[in-house]
Amino acid sequence: MDAPFPPMPYAEAERLEPLVRRVLARNPSPFTYTGTQTYVVGAGEAVAVIDPGPDEPEHIDAILDAVGDARISAIVCTHTHRDHSPAAGPLAARTGAPVIGCAYLSLDDDGPRADAPFDATYRPDRVLADGETIAGPDWTLVAVATPGHTSNHLCYALAGTGALFTGDHVMGWSTSVIAPPDGDMADYMASLEKLYAREDRVYYPAHGPAVDKPRQLVRGMIGHRRSRENQILKLLAETPQPISALVQRMYKGVDERLWPAAGRSVLAHLIDLERRGRVGRDGDDWSLGDG
Ligand SMILES: [Zn+2]
Repeated sequence: MDAPFPPMPYAEAERLEPLVRRVLARNPSPFTYTGTQTYVVGAGEAVAVIDPGPDEPEHIDAILDAVGDARISAIVCTHTHRDHSPAAGPLAARTGAPVIGCAYLSLDDDGPRADAPFDATYRPDRVLADGETIAGPDWTLVAVATPGHTSNHLCYALAGTGALFTGDHVMGWSTSVIAPPDGDMADYMASLEKLYAREDRVYYPAHGPAVDKPRQLVRGMIGHRRSRENQILKLLAETPQPISALVQRMYKGVDERLWPAAGRSVLAHLIDLERRGRVGRDGDDWSLGDG
């Protein structure tokens, strides 16, 4: 990070609008920005908790403080990276609330994962398909399937308000890491187009500030990925080369701690281009054409 953060409101609930409060977990990093933001949805006797976050006692206590005398009627996850869902089980155990939302994902732990790894403890009581809803006294959440960052990623629309909880699919502070084998660039692009076609008023991402011009941001992200793809094709037109060489040229000036993750996103682009017959590979070297 270039500059230190100003003091952050860790372990405190902040109200963002009548039905939405945010609790920031103390897990800042180059991948999580200031930390994971858990959202408490609803102002009545039953609330939903979106992305309960890491299994940290301070954070779980802060969520329960925010919930106060209300009851948690759903613990909801956008996806199962380890900075999002591990608190779901402990929070369910303390409150009796069901875990409802994204699907369980079974993935091998081995192999390089530059992204935060997957949470193997996640066990949903109910999985939501695209368009399915859960509701409380003053809120309804609609699942919006948005695979790409992970195959099980869901956004959630707060019906009637124009608010969309975007998890790691769209964030204001950074583009998402798309890490194969589970991350898929073609799915991610289709999921960006899906959001672009919506008329949301505001995005609440799991990391970074709320986004108040959502479509403008999504359009920029679609353009950004297309220009990355063009950059890759241009570099491969010069000479066949490995991903490490592409990353050095494409991410010059970017925090080098992020280069391994950038390499995963470049791989995601290459796999997508390979499927479309635009590039091929020979060992570690990628080239134009079918290799
Ligand atoms: Zn994630």
